[in-house]
Amino acid sequence: MSLPDITRNNSLDPGAVQPLEKGVEVVRVIFPDLHGIARGKDVPARVYENLDHGLSFCSAVMATDLRHTPVLGGESGYPDMVATPEPASLVRLPWEPEVACCMADLQSVRDGAPVPDPRRLLRSVVAEYEELGLSPVVGPELEFFLLAPEDANGDLVRRIDLPSMVYTVGPQVDPDGFVRRLGQHLTTAGLPVVTMNHEYMNSQYEINLRHADALTAADQAFLLRNWSRDIAALQGLRATFAGKPFNDQGGSGFHIHVSLDREGENAFDDDDDANGVSDLLRCFAAGVLEHAAATMAFLNPTINAYRRLVPDSLAPTRVNWGWDNRSTMLRIPAERGRATRIEVRVGDASANAHLAIAAILIAGLDGIRNRLELNPPAYGDAYRTDSDGEHLPRSLEESLVALGEDAVLADVCGPELIETFVAIKQFEVERHRAWVSDWERTEYLMHI
Ligand code: GLU
Ligand code: MG
Repeated sequence: MSLPDITRNNSLDPGAVQPLEKGVEVVRVIFPDLHGIARGKDVPARVYENLDHGLSFCSAVMATDLRHTPVLGGESGYPDMVATPEPASLVRLPWEPEVACCMADLQSVRDGAPVPDPRRLLRSVVAEYEELGLSPVVGPELEFFLLAPEDANGDLVRRIDLPSMVYTVGPQVDPDGFVRRLGQHLTTAGLPVVTMNHEYMNSQYEINLRHADALTAADQAFLLRNWSRDIAALQGLRATFAGKPFNDQGGSGFHIHVSLDREGENAFDDDDDANGVSDLLRCFAAGVLEHAAATMAFLNPTINAYRRLVPDSLAPTRVNWGWDNRSTMLRIPAERGRATRIEVRVGDASANAHLAIAAILIAGLDGIRNRLELNPPAYGDAYRTDSDGEHLPRSLEESLVALGEDAVLADVCGPELIETFVAIKQFEVERHRAWVSDWERTEYLMHI
């Protein structure tokens, strides 16, 4: 058997790496794994400046669960993959000024062997839109909780434990200016932060990013989550983007605003329509609803995520849409013209931004290609009756089954990515199934 030529597939274009700014001592080369966690390596400046090939990683990192079990990879001997830095993405980190950060693309070291790379998937989906003369435009909103250092019992505690501080800003909800500085740091590092505020729940905050093309928006949402966690860690705090961290508080959403651009115009807008929206928007929305159950595995990828999706939470429970209705899965905000868009409200903040956005776009594209018809909207409280729409999957397990059955998603994502994602998540489901929780102890041990 001939060995693969590792250097052949793996070289950087000559001149791609430019000399670093004075004061940069380390380049942090990162990429999202399937959880949306930043994996990477710190590279000393002099090594980075002389790089002529990508960095090697054990490819099992793309198939590793959150308890560091490499669920797949053993059958092929845990081979290498290569992360090739994208020098154009290099940015200095104001919170660690000696560090510059750089995104990387993943390749197999073996000719043709696919790597389940979320960024590559999103690029390929955007290319399918481009064939139709359309470019997806995406605006991410991310909610998260800020937690203080662990208490004496090792429990995570909320940093500001005040109820009802939604939409408040300033020292009462941010006494030492941490959230303000977080926004400033992210902005200096190039993220287009447009607003930040305290959210509904105790110690819950939200940061909104200006819309951008789909890959840029996904990269930025990924960086927002990872950098916010870094900046919090530097202060001895934790930022958690878990969907439903507390029993006594609602959860954290990842609201994704989408429109389609055609030659510089918003193709979701239509002055001639009674509601000001185009048929293209209706078909796209119908596609997202058609594939709702299967896309849930990407939009709500944890066991915990499903505890957020309950009535009256401002998160949806049903496959439905509405005119400026925050109890539905898809909200069509009231703005028109350039701002005509769909807000997909179902995902939680733990989702891998690239996979979540890719899944919505794949579903929407299917709606466009097959001219799917949009059901009537839900009005008012859309949580309670069957006429409010079919129920969304109630567990990760159900969502994984739906993903496994969806031929459209399987076709675009490819077997490598779907099989790897399902394997690590199924493993998570199995581990959870065997775990005795504190709820069970409280509920049963004293009585039975
Ligand atoms: N936190 C809610 C969610 O889980 C959303 C609240 C809001 O509308 O901003 O989606
Ligand atoms: Mg919000």
